[in-house]
Amino acid sequence: MSSQPNILFIMTDDHASHAMSCYGSRINETPNMDRIADEGMLFNNCFCTNAICTPSRATILTGTYNHINNVTTLSSKLDGRITTFPKLLQSDGYQTAIIGKWHLGHGGHSDPTGFDYWCVLPGQGLYHDPVMSDMGEEKEFKGYATDIITDKSLDWLKQRDTEKPFMLMCHHKAPHREWSPDERHMHMYEDIDIPEPETLWDDYSNRASAAREAKMRISRDLNAKDLKLPVPEGLTEEDETKWKYQRYIKDYLRCVASVDDNIGRMLDYLDAEGLAENTIVVYTSDQGFFLGDHGWYDKRFMYEESLRMPFLIRYPREIEAGSICDDMILNTDFASTFLDYAGVEIPDEFQGSSIRPLLMKQPPDDWRTAMYYRYWMHLAHHNVYAHYGLRTQRYKLIYYYADALDQPGAIDDPREPEWELFDLAYDPLEINNVYHDPDYADLIEELTAQLHQLQAEVGDVPFTKAG
Ligand code: CA
Repeated sequence: MSSQPNILFIMTDDHASHAMSCYGSRINETPNMDRIADEGMLFNNCFCTNAICTPSRATILTGTYNHINNVTTLSSKLDGRITTFPKLLQSDGYQTAIIGKWHLGHGGHSDPTGFDYWCVLPGQGLYHDPVMSDMGEEKEFKGYATDIITDKSLDWLKQRDTEKPFMLMCHHKAPHREWSPDERHMHMYEDIDIPEPETLWDDYSNRASAAREAKMRISRDLNAKDLKLPVPEGLTEEDETKWKYQRYIKDYLRCVASVDDNIGRMLDYLDAEGLAENTIVVYTSDQGFFLGDHGWYDKRFMYEESLRMPFLIRYPREIEAGSICDDMILNTDFASTFLDYAGVEIPDEFQGSSIRPLLMKQPPDDWRTAMYYRYWMHLAHHNVYAHYGLRTQRYKLIYYYADALDQPGAIDDPREPEWELFDLAYDPLEINNVYHDPDYADLIEELTAQLHQLQAEVGDVPFTKAG
C-alpha cells in the first residue's frame, strides 16, 4: 500500500458554518459533519478570496487568486490547460475523480481535466432527477442529487485500484438556491420555529450605500420558486418577513440535513474498508451564506457570513482529534496543502501555503494575520457592487470601487466609490461603519497601506477610474 494519504474532499455549495452544530449553530444539528470535527480539526477562520461559486472553485483547484486564474465571475470559464492540484496528483500516480458540481464551464477547454473519472452537473444542475455529464456523455439519473452524488462517489471508490492512493472531489449541489429538499427531510422542522438571526431587521443605516442597494432581501427578493408556497394573505409587513424567513431557512436546513446523512455514508464506508487512518477527509463549502443575516440570503459581500467558509479536516495520523484552529487560512491554501501531504512539489505560481504546520499545531511565526479579498461581478444578479478589501484579525476595510471593468457578466454601470471600516472587536455583526469616524483616521491610513501592499503581493492592482 502507498504511504501517500488518500484525499476525500467533500464540498457543498453555499453552506455557511453557522448552520453546523460543530460551529455552534443555533438553528440545526449536523452530527456527521461534527464527526469530522470531533475526530480532526475545525478552523474558525477559513476565508474565501471571492465569495461566489465559480471563482472560489477555480481558486481551490489552482491555488491562485482570480485575477491570476482569470475566473473572476460566474460567467468565467476555467481554462483546463492551466495547472491544478488534481493534475499534479494524477501525474504522481494518484487515482483522481470529481463527482457532482463543477460549475467552471463545459466543452472546449472547460471540461474537467486532471481527473481519471468525472461526472458533473451542467451549470447549477437540478436537485431532482439531474442530468449529469459522465465523461462528456449526458445521462439522466433518477433520484435526489445529494444521494446520487454520494452513490456515484461510493461506486467510484469501490472500483478503484486499492494499490494506488486516491483523490476524490465529492461536490454537492446542496444547499444552493432554490433549496429543494428531498422526500425524507421534507417535513423536518415542521412544528417548530427556527430562531431568527440578530440582524434580520438590519436597516442598513450607518453603512456604505452598497448594503442598502443589494437585492437579496428575505422581505422583498425571494421569489415564488424559492418560497414554494403562496404568501398567506393579511399578514403585516413584519409577519410576512418572518414567514418568508421560516420558509427559506427550513428548506435550506433540510437540504443540509440530507448532505449530513450522506457524509455519514461516506465516513461509514471509510471505516468499513479500514481507510479512515490513511485518508485525509475535508468538509468545506465554496463560500459562506447569509442565513437571514442583514435581512439577506445569498453571498458575494466581504461581510463575515459570506466570507467565512466552514473547514473541517480529519487525518488521524497527524491531526489530534477534537482540535480547533483560529489561525487564518484561505481557499488559496487547499491546493498546496494536498500537494504537501502527497509529497508533490508545490509550483511557484501557487499563492497559498500548506496548512500542514497548523494541523500539527506548529504554526510558523510568520503565518498570515491579514488577507486580501475581491468580488468582481459588479451589479449582476443581486446588485452587489464590485469591491475589494482587507481583513486583519481585528479590522475589516472594504472599498466598493463599484465598476464592471469589463469583467464577464458584470454590468457596466459604475457607482460612486465608497469605503467601509468595521472594528470587529466591538462590532462583530458589522453594522457600524467607522470609516468616517476621526478617531480611526490614523488606523485607516495604516490599513489602507496594508491593503495596497497585500494587493501588490498577490499581483493585483488598485482600482483607478477610467477616463
Ligand atoms: Ca456557492
